Amino acid sequence: MTEAVKPPKKPRGTASLLEGKCIACGARCQSVCPVDAVQMNDAGEPIIDASRCIGCVKCVKVCPVQALEMSFTPEERRILEQLAATVTSVTEVPEEDAEEAELRKRLAVYRGVWVFIEQTEGEAAKVSWELLGKGKELAASRNCELAAVVMGDGVEDLCRQAIGYGAEKVYLMDAPVLRHYRTEAYQRGVCTLVEKYRPEVILMGATGLGRDLAGVVATKLATGLTADCTGLSIDDKGNLMQTRPAFGGNIMATIVCDKFRPQMSTVRPHVMAMPPFDPTASGETVREPVPLTEEEIKVKVLKILMDGGSGADVDIAGADFIVSGGRGMMGKENFSMLQELAEVLGGVVGASRSAVDAGWMPPDRQVGQTGKTVRPKVYIACGISGAIQHLVGMQDSDVVIAINRDADAPIFQVASYGIVGDLFKIIPALTRKLKALKASRSGSAPADCRV
Ligand code: FAD
Repeated sequence: MTEAVKPPKKPRGTASLLEGKCIACGARCQSVCPVDAVQMNDAGEPIIDASRCIGCVKCVKVCPVQALEMSFTPEERRILEQLAATVTSVTEVPEEDAEEAELRKRLAVYRGVWVFIEQTEGEAAKVSWELLGKGKELAASRNCELAAVVMGDGVEDLCRQAIGYGAEKVYLMDAPVLRHYRTEAYQRGVCTLVEKYRPEVILMGATGLGRDLAGVVATKLATGLTADCTGLSIDDKGNLMQTRPAFGGNIMATIVCDKFRPQMSTVRPHVMAMPPFDPTASGETVREPVPLTEEEIKVKVLKILMDGGSGADVDIAGADFIVSGGRGMMGKENFSMLQELAEVLGGVVGASRSAVDAGWMPPDRQVGQTGKTVRPKVYIACGISGAIQHLVGMQDSDVVIAINRDADAPIFQVASYGIVGDLFKIIPALTRKLKALKASRSGSAPADCRV
């Protein structure tokens, strides 16, 4: 009788770094290593201690740029080949990864896309409707429901509006204790709803309120939050791909929260397109009990002081026509030329960061990554080169007109119309022409000009 030959054990290999591929993402490989086999060097790249590595593959899987791989000695490779040859007739059953199966099970409980509807005195922030538009796309990719969360006092009307903008369901918490935004009260409201219904995605506006609430909710729920996203989509595993500028705007990073739910993102106003409003849309409003009393909330709102009472503030983010100036304007005094053009158009004046840093325009007029995101009908860029940090703030304008004397300026890549030449000649000529056009149409022309 011949004794059955035991097949050799499948070698697990050792993790190794592929030269030149590491992007120093922040020691993700080190943090997942269960045996402390990964140390980071000064450049933020991993040094793997082969004598400690147990071949668990965790670092290889977590690397966002496939900079790590498993290496095998010649002997291990020979065994692998031998094993591969012996399993030709048997369907190879992949090794059961208990940890992954458990994770999948835990995440599967979460279902649905939610948008938090921010409101002040019963009026919704426009960004909430913009997020319903994006939320609808995400919900369609996940084949799940899009719901809105409305909180406040006497805000039932917002539920109807949310349905008109695309929500299939609205969770409503309506009580005097929620009249004014207070972090603790709203956090408890949102967390109670999340624990009860378990959505997989929550979107909030990157406004003062949204940033505050999203941060505290994510902390309470022990989940991930990506702030100021400029792009959102779903990957083939059902994770939310959250894209935002990183490393000072030099790269766009896509962040995935693949181990926790809900996945939370904030998005600045005007980044996402406004969806159409359908007054005939139907949906369900679910009235939820408010899980707190006034006595439990330590913060009291004594008085509301409204900002901008002087009327001097200009909201460039909401303007339909923006005439922006950059370093090419050469000085503060030349912005009066832009002001004149903006007035003819019924618009406002914006600026690049260079112009703001030079003190030619106030910071609230800055367009771009560290300024405001705008989506006007017409954006006229005057003496602006078109650095990526500027483009991310205005490239979704309906029409972009660029005036620049450098024909190779990157602004022309996003421009619908480009004028190559000296802005000091072109802008006055344009203003004169528009004024004449308006005058010839006076009586029939509306306040804002049609060019
Ligand atoms: P320049 O790049 O100097 O361009 C001036 C342009 O004017 C040139 O193209 C030139 O050809 C043209 N010009 C000169 N004279 C004339 C003339 N007579 N007629 C016609 N054209 C003329 N930038 C922003 O704008 N917004 C932001 O939010 C922002 N955030 C940033 C965040 C970070 C972390 C960093 C690192 C940078 C950021 N920047 C931002 C700065 C950005 O990188 C650019 O430096 C800036 O946008 C350049 O401004 P500009 O186009 O006005 O100036």
